[in-house]
Amino acid sequence: MQVGGTHLLIDAGMRVHGDDLLPAIGMLDDFDPPEAILVTHAHADHIGALPMIHSLYPDAPVYATPPTADLMNIMMRDSFKIMEQRCRTAGLPSYNKEQMQALLEAVRLFPASGILKIGNVKVTCYRAGHILGAVMFAIEGGGEELFVTGDLSFKAGRTIPGAEVPHGLRPDVLIMESTYGNRVHADRHTEEKRLADNVAEVIAGGGFALIPAFALGRAQEVLLVLQDYMDRGLIPEFPIYVDGLVTPISEIYRRYPQYLKGPVAHRIRKNGDVFLTEGRCKAVKPKEREGVLKGKPACIVASSGMLIGGASVWYAERLIKDEKKNAIFITGYQDEESPGRKLLNLAEGADHLLELNGVVYDVKCRVDKYGLSAHGDAGELTRFTETLDPTYTLLVHGDDEARFQLNETIDPRFHPLLVEKRRRILSF
Ligand SMILES: [Zn+2]
Ligand SMILES: [Zn+2]
Repeated sequence: MQVGGTHLLIDAGMRVHGDDLLPAIGMLDDFDPPEAILVTHAHADHIGALPMIHSLYPDAPVYATPPTADLMNIMMRDSFKIMEQRCRTAGLPSYNKEQMQALLEAVRLFPASGILKIGNVKVTCYRAGHILGAVMFAIEGGGEELFVTGDLSFKAGRTIPGAEVPHGLRPDVLIMESTYGNRVHADRHTEEKRLADNVAEVIAGGGFALIPAFALGRAQEVLLVLQDYMDRGLIPEFPIYVDGLVTPISEIYRRYPQYLKGPVAHRIRKNGDVFLTEGRCKAVKPKEREGVLKGKPACIVASSGMLIGGASVWYAERLIKDEKKNAIFITGYQDEESPGRKLLNLAEGADHLLELNGVVYDVKCRVDKYGLSAHGDAGELTRFTETLDPTYTLLVHGDDEARFQLNETIDPRFHPLLVEKRRRILSF
């Protein structure tokens, strides 16, 4: 984007699933090189293509909050092999280790004040909720003002506070995510209680409860929900095992108590950790997995969240075909073609066969899903627009159904607009 004559680029992600991997990088040819690259948060759909972008503009500094910088490091290294492979298969430009390394070295931290001057503009960061370190940007210069949400959630989760909603900003343009623009979330408290009760029920019945969870964000929420219910004596104590990328990411959450909710930060300062806790919640290495399933009934929180590779698939393959006593509980968004989505469809009676790692399994375990979303819903996004009072509202980051519906819901005085994926320049 260009504000007050200064060019900036915000986020460049990759699709974790499906064929259409990269954003429309070719569009950048229509613009001068960015003076800086800003990162809202460390999810792959916001940072995955940054190594390529950075190799195009090696002189542009990349700005991120301290936790986002740390999380980017882990997320990029973890997904590197898969991304490299997928780019090669799709015949896309190279994605190599040197590019990734160069990007990570180019990352600079946002000043603690949350205000940054770049060229003619002033960038102000606002907390976005969503996940650790996520921010929104207000960008002003030359009499123009733009507000970019990245991904945002309004209600505080277990780990982090909700978005900081600025009042009276009245930007010329609001660029807003619309992931759940066509939905109203189920009551969070009810969903958490159902999850905690059902996990406890499976374990009391002598089974294992597997929760495939997105390593960044959702897994930490799940770990706090279960342990909070134990602390309050609402469910009995049972062992929780953590596997995959969830472990190093939970360690980064622990390192930034000042970004977490007050009571969580307090418990970290007092006890050293709230995610991986002595005698209750333990990180598992691959060679210890067999031992976990031979041991006492337990809950396993493992990545990936959609059962596309990773530790969760290893456990799912072993728990899925056994007796009814085991369960797989899904807690996050599932891509249309992902195994996690197929598992949910089949829980609704569609079929009983599921393919994991090339093997077809007859699904016998219990399957259920819980709404613990980290995105604002239709009502919240609409109210946010009203508070911000922008002249134009550009809806991004949602499937067509979600964006179209939100486009209808937002008051016409905020001029909602659907931004198309292909080459298009909008001037305001
Ligand atoms: Zn995100
Ligand atoms: Zn996103």
